[in-house]
Amino acid sequence: MKFNSTRNDNLSASFEQALFSGLAPDGGLFIPCDFPRLPASFVTSKDISLHDIGINIMKNYITDIPADNLETIIGESLSFPIPLKRLEENYYLLEVFHGPTLAFKDVGARFMARALEFFAVSEQRKISIIVATSGDTGSAIASAFHNMPNIEVYILYPANKISRLQEQQITTFGGNIHALEVDGTFDDCQRLVKTALADHSLKSNKIITTANSINIARLLPQMIYHAWGLTQLRQHDIIEPPILSVPSGNLGNLTSALYTNLTGFPVQKFIAAVNINSVFAEYLHTLVFTPQPSKKSFANAMDVGNPSNFERLEKLYASHPEQMRREIVGYSIPDAEILSEIRQTYANTGIIIDPHTAVGVAAAKRNNIDSAPVIITATAHPAKFPEVIKHALDIDIPLPESLQRILNKPKQAEMISVEYADLREILLR
Ligand SMILES: *Cc1c(COP(=O)(O)O)cnc(C)c1O
Repeated sequence: MKFNSTRNDNLSASFEQALFSGLAPDGGLFIPCDFPRLPASFVTSKDISLHDIGINIMKNYITDIPADNLETIIGESLSFPIPLKRLEENYYLLEVFHGPTLAFKDVGARFMARALEFFAVSEQRKISIIVATSGDTGSAIASAFHNMPNIEVYILYPANKISRLQEQQITTFGGNIHALEVDGTFDDCQRLVKTALADHSLKSNKIITTANSINIARLLPQMIYHAWGLTQLRQHDIIEPPILSVPSGNLGNLTSALYTNLTGFPVQKFIAAVNINSVFAEYLHTLVFTPQPSKKSFANAMDVGNPSNFERLEKLYASHPEQMRREIVGYSIPDAEILSEIRQTYANTGIIIDPHTAVGVAAAKRNNIDSAPVIITATAHPAKFPEVIKHALDIDIPLPESLQRILNKPKQAEMISVEYADLREILLR
């Protein structure tokens, strides 16, 4: 399988090349050149496990890792349950938040870490990974890469602009995880990362790459849980292809849901559930894409004004945006509706949903013209957002033990300025 740039079908790369470079050399994003379909008997089976699904999907896309290594990587990346739970009526939650950092980003980050480790160890290469985070990505990456041989990780985060819990999740690992507290904004962090990646004098020493969500290695494994959600629904004897409601920011989760469908798993329709950052929902109405500065919301991991995976979606529907509009509907959910959905769901079911999942549930309810079953991706554990839950329900949600432990560990971070020289010196150590 080759991966092509969204901007040039003739610019192709192996999985390994796409994994290491992140962006294509022309600035495009890598996409699979083809979507191999699994047999109907497989995609409609009830007797398959999460790991059966994982290896059967991934072996067609990742052809430069031997199947038995790939199987190990999948087993280690998806080493936690991803249950489908009935919410109410025909709404189901796919809980993808039982990983170590309690959000779905664990799946892509853990898979990417192990794929990089596979190539680093088999080719005896040393790798440095640099990421900028506004909060949640950093913790998933730190946890996924901790103690990986041959890999050093540098996580840049803006000082005083992330929550204490998020900061502790980045700064308490030590070892090969280097937390860099930048005296600036998230945009400064991102600019520093881009400068380092473009600094060829650094690259001659070692391989430097990034681990943000534009990397195809984070997107591909997300197909596995979407397919597993669809399989679990059939195990509940619900045969009708469901609607998938996907809480969306950079649109990576939605893109992987569409890829799952192209791989053969039947889906009726997709809902792009966004918060007040409504660029993509507006695009689906007008077919005009107008990036905006991001706005702060209660579902802050989805505060994205210029979603990076839009380029992949646009390419998928090539010259047929009308078809995109038939298959995907978009709803923009304001903060007040996030709060009311958390309350409503709690009152009806006793289940506490996090603010991102609430966007997905509210969007599914707005779409109630269809009677089909709906699977909502539950993207984070509610305990990660205690302030919003307190605001909505007046409940102090207990912190899971794993997070409690992290809160009590000492912070280890190095403060750097927004000048690139500071970062460069650390990378050269
Ligand atoms: C990142 C994130 C999202 C958005 O996912 P995208 O792939 O960027 O669309 C939704 N919910 C949570 C909790 C997240 O961390």
